[in-house]
Amino acid sequence: MENKREILKVVDLQKKFHKLEVLKGISTTFHENEVVSIIGPSGGGKSTFLRCLNLLEQPTSGQILFDGTDICTIKGKAIDHCRQRMGMVFQQFNLFENMNVMKNLTVAPMRIHKMPQAEAEAKAEELVRRVGLADKLTAYPSQLSGGQKQRIAIVRALMMNPEVMLFDEPTSALDPEMTGEVLSVMKALAEEGMTMIVVTHEMRFAREVSTRTLFLDGGRIEEDKPSKELFSHPESPRLISFLEKVL
Ligand code: ADP
Ligand code: MG
Repeated sequence: MENKREILKVVDLQKKFHKLEVLKGISTTFHENEVVSIIGPSGGGKSTFLRCLNLLEQPTSGQILFDGTDICTIKGKAIDHCRQRMGMVFQQFNLFENMNVMKNLTVAPMRIHKMPQAEAEAKAEELVRRVGLADKLTAYPSQLSGGQKQRIAIVRALMMNPEVMLFDEPTSALDPEMTGEVLSVMKALAEEGMTMIVVTHEMRFAREVSTRTLFLDGGRIEEDKPSKELFSHPESPRLISFLEKVL
């Protein structure tokens, strides 16, 4: 991993909400092509961490180097530009309900990247085919199942050619069958070499698809190891008791 490009390097990241210390000094590096899962108990700071990475939250202190630039100190348009280089997928799909799938997919690349409409539409067609939803381009979000919405949300992020994809519990709102559809799209993305950071409760995904897993608990990284090793030889007592509950 050492010779791979460092996409995001996090140094002693802290986040407080008033007096509540949510992130208590997180340091880790995400390399190109890595697929990293973040697991841990609810309230441990996973979402806050992810939201700091793409500046939806302003960190209290520490550094986040994105491709070498500390993004904690940037302002205004530079923040938008930085976010555009990261795809983000949330538990609650956040599609535009008043736009059909094609429009959901093409609006940002056309407005922000000034991509010509024909090119944006061709790209959308190609990507929806890859997630098995070629026949849904004219559908509205309300006509889609949760699993279909989430696959469209993933495609929407991919339309912007992100350098890294951040996922916050992308399958938590889905039933098992739909979870499977979404996980297989994520697995295919991982196999294509996309750099991915995934907060998840899907332990099979963490163990089998991600290359590395972080266990985040109480605002600290308690364990950070290659996934297979973390699951076969958990060391921290808190990780051991967490895995006993969830596996
Ligand atoms: P996780 O995703 O691991 O469940 P979160 O990052 O959502 O954890 O939350 C960590 C802690 O931070 C929780 O105690 C939560 O209540 C608190 N928190 C999260 N966002 C805010 C906010 N905007 N204002 C105040 N407290 C927050
Ligand atoms: Mg969360």
